[in-house]
Amino acid sequence: MQIADEATKQRLLSCAGAGAGGFLTAPPVSNDLRMGAAVFIDAVRFRLGIRSINAAKIKSTHVCLCNKVHDQNNLMSDIICCPKAGGSSWIRRHDIPKNKFAEIARQSGHSVTVESRVGDDERRYRTDVTINDFHGSAKAELDFAVTHPLSKGNLQRRCIQGIAAEAYAKKKVKESGLRSIHAPDVFIPAIFDTYGLIHPELVKVIHTLAENHINQSATDAGYSVEQRMMLKGVVVNGFMQRLSIAVMKGVVYNIDGAAKAILRNNGRDLQRKGSLTTGRSEVLLSSALRAQFDSLDVT
Ligand SMILES: [Zn+2]
Repeated sequence: MQIADEATKQRLLSCAGAGAGGFLTAPPVSNDLRMGAAVFIDAVRFRLGIRSINAAKIKSTHVCLCNKVHDQNNLMSDIICCPKAGGSSWIRRHDIPKNKFAEIARQSGHSVTVESRVGDDERRYRTDVTINDFHGSAKAELDFAVTHPLSKGNLQRRCIQGIAAEAYAKKKVKESGLRSIHAPDVFIPAIFDTYGLIHPELVKVIHTLAENHINQSATDAGYSVEQRMMLKGVVVNGFMQRLSIAVMKGVVYNIDGAAKAILRNNGRDLQRKGSLTTGRSEVLLSSALRAQFDSLDVT
């Protein structure tokens, strides 16, 4: 670790952060705990600092949609952060974990609104997820972001675990949250980083959801304090795994979208899964024509 470069140190610190390895230990027993083989492979490659399957096809001569040739030594970070290459796929990187969190909050028994407008008329502001009954009738307004700790800006920061997520959380609070949301309602910056690390503020919310979930579902079960603690550990772990998978799916989608955009920009024809090859479409067409011809009574 001491001889590793800054980017490697930040990556390893981030991968060791709260919640980041959840996707590696999740039992694939439901849809939100499953990852496709290709997605899982790319998520593991990213964690190990290796290029994704499609990013490995990008050559040093390939020009990005931003008209630059991205740095081959820092390719993954460059293409994730490039607004032209990765731009449209950022939405999925943001929305998949956001929607998964909303689902978890609902399943924990809360009333949840997605994309509601808050604040007074002059300063109306839209938050990603609102938990309407977070503490009694007080709301929690959450705004999501997935930041890349190895972006050029973040690498300027000190080499401390979670520093990129912390910086983003501070920015969110300053920019929007506190101005529009008033006590007893609370604003919570819900920040992940691209390796899956979960910012402490969001970890706290996950613990609260787990407690509420247990209180609602096991009120009369007669569990001891120790049993409830164990139950909470299992529930929190399950939430973290589902969120970790959601983040990694979004990040892999982002990386793959950016890599494919660059490859296409350089005339690399990527065969889409399930698309028809020329040979296959000709076979289908000729059999359809034959069937049509056969149905005509030409005798
Ligand atoms: Zn670019």
